[in-house]
Amino acid sequence: MRFLPLCILTILVSCASPPQQMTIIAHRGASGYLPEHTLESASMAHAFNPDFIEPDLVMTKDDVLVVLHDIHIDTTTNVAKVFPKKKRKDGRYYAIDFTLKQLKSLKVMERGNVKSGKAIYEDRFPRGRANFEVATFREFIELVEGLNKSRKMNIGIYPEMKSPSFHRQNKKDILKETWKVLNDYGYTSGKKKIFLQCFDSSALKEFKKRFNPKFPMIQLIGDNSWKESPDDYTKMLTPKGLKEVSSYAQGIGPWFPQLIQPVGRSYRITPLAKVAKSLGLKIHTYTLREDSLPEYVDSVKGLSVILAREGVDGVFTDFPDRIRE
Ligand code: CA
Repeated sequence: MRFLPLCILTILVSCASPPQQMTIIAHRGASGYLPEHTLESASMAHAFNPDFIEPDLVMTKDDVLVVLHDIHIDTTTNVAKVFPKKKRKDGRYYAIDFTLKQLKSLKVMERGNVKSGKAIYEDRFPRGRANFEVATFREFIELVEGLNKSRKMNIGIYPEMKSPSFHRQNKKDILKETWKVLNDYGYTSGKKKIFLQCFDSSALKEFKKRFNPKFPMIQLIGDNSWKESPDDYTKMLTPKGLKEVSSYAQGIGPWFPQLIQPVGRSYRITPLAKVAKSLGLKIHTYTLREDSLPEYVDSVKGLSVILAREGVDGVFTDFPDRIRE
């Protein structure tokens, strides 16, 4: 077996695991269509019937959890216009320096480049049009649960605690605040649909130790160059590293090129999925975008089929309507 060329090995592995029903996670809502993390984006996502909707979480100056992808707010709001004096020495604006009331006075818009201000995805919702505001985590939960009631659905939530070490440096305990809100809405009972995700392994370990949650946790795996956390993801991706992850988390959230590596206009499957499955870890990979696809595939649906064949359990996607259509 060890002498077989990689392509034959890949075919054998592919045959071993039949395609399965994918868990669909609406990444930052239906962010392919509306500005990410707004309640409008979450509402549209809900109408697409995904399994989960994702809010990323950061804290305000007055300790409120808000739904934002970054600790910075200059790429998704008009903060530089409204509060020009509140930037830090590095020229960036941080959510943690603003009260909820101040954040609510901002206009949320489609993500743009921090220097040029140009939209990252130019075919998406036009920047600065209409009117969207920053949502709190509580508002997000009440929206999803309200729609679950009125639409007779049971769509879950998939919160991500952003940059716990940055919050700690700024004297904020994002773990405690997240637990508190989840507890207030009954998610700590183990009976409601939820996954909790984080890039920082020490934060997940600490969360487990402090709160012993009954819900599953997902260790996100990034690339070291992104500096998402103090973790060494190269080490985490080894069989030994993944075994360690299985001691505190129920699954992993790898970047999809860590599962499928592009080779010219084709691809090869890495051993990651196989190793993770052998450890009993769920695999929810990110991020499938119809407007940012690798060369070897022409739709998020096609990409999800390849991933499902390799045993991947779920996908984060900006286009939750395009996978199960
Ligand atoms: Ca996220």
